[in-house]
Amino acid sequence: MLPYLCTRLLHKYSIHYLMCIVHARTQRIEFMINYFYMLAITTLFALSQPNIKLQVLGSGGPESGDKRASSSYLIWVDGKSKVLIDFGGGASLRFEEVNAKIEDLDVILLTHLHVDHTADIPVLLKSSFFTRASGNLHIYGPSNNDFMPSTQEFIERLFEDNHGAWHYLGDHLDCKARLQLKTHTIKDTRTVKSIYTQGNLHISAISVHHGPIPAIAYRVQIGNKSITFSGDMNGDYHTLEKLAAGTDILVAHNAVPKGASGVASKLHMTPNIIGQIAKQSKTKMLILSHRMLRTLGKEAESKREIKKYYKGNIKFANDKSYYMLK
Ligand SMILES: [Zn+2]
Repeated sequence: MLPYLCTRLLHKYSIHYLMCIVHARTQRIEFMINYFYMLAITTLFALSQPNIKLQVLGSGGPESGDKRASSSYLIWVDGKSKVLIDFGGGASLRFEEVNAKIEDLDVILLTHLHVDHTADIPVLLKSSFFTRASGNLHIYGPSNNDFMPSTQEFIERLFEDNHGAWHYLGDHLDCKARLQLKTHTIKDTRTVKSIYTQGNLHISAISVHHGPIPAIAYRVQIGNKSITFSGDMNGDYHTLEKLAAGTDILVAHNAVPKGASGVASKLHMTPNIIGQIAKQSKTKMLILSHRMLRTLGKEAESKREIKKYYKGNIKFANDKSYYMLK
């Protein structure tokens, strides 16, 4: 009897043991399949996300003496210079120095039409003649008011065939030249407006307050990464917070110091305002640019003011400095 019972028990537990092994192996195989599946998805996602670099071409404002080019930024996508934001005096030299190519450009975004944001546009257009640049180069900017022309009028006054100041470049507007400048005027908008889409590149815009000057802030989204540009503004419209919500990088203009008042504070954000907007928008990194003699040398003070609200990473821009988006 005893040997029989032992055999039964042995048999029973052997089967149980075998089943446990089979179950464990099945679980292990399932785990391995899931692991490799997730690895493949992650790898594919990483490969599909382009390599994005923000480069500062001009970190200064309109004054001489700051030893900086005026306002301008370039977004590189997979090693190509794709999106240009503003192009003030000196930016064309920086564009050349960083080996950017006009033929790779798709879009130019003008935050407003002040000289320190637009002066080198004719230089860029003329220099395209000596390159293989062709097709459409889109240029966006604000609408008109009593102080400023619309972006369409601005470009026509510069280049139009009959009356433009540089009408010899008019071929770039009337389909005769290889490279055609396609101008788009953005109407005043207090809500985020989508203005351009090409593949995984999406650009949206919103109006911002820059004294009496029509001005636009832009958000450039590439895949799951984004960079938002304040342009010149003082924060009165409370619109930048909406545009920059959750952005990876906010480029804000540090044109006036703590305690600025009068005209300066109607045109530009104090560090205090920059800090509040960066906090509200939950921006991941803040870059301070459009640095002027009145803010240069006051970096520690500006940073202290901003940090009262914003606890993230803060950088001060210099010409040609760049930031990778990973
Ligand atoms: Zn400016």
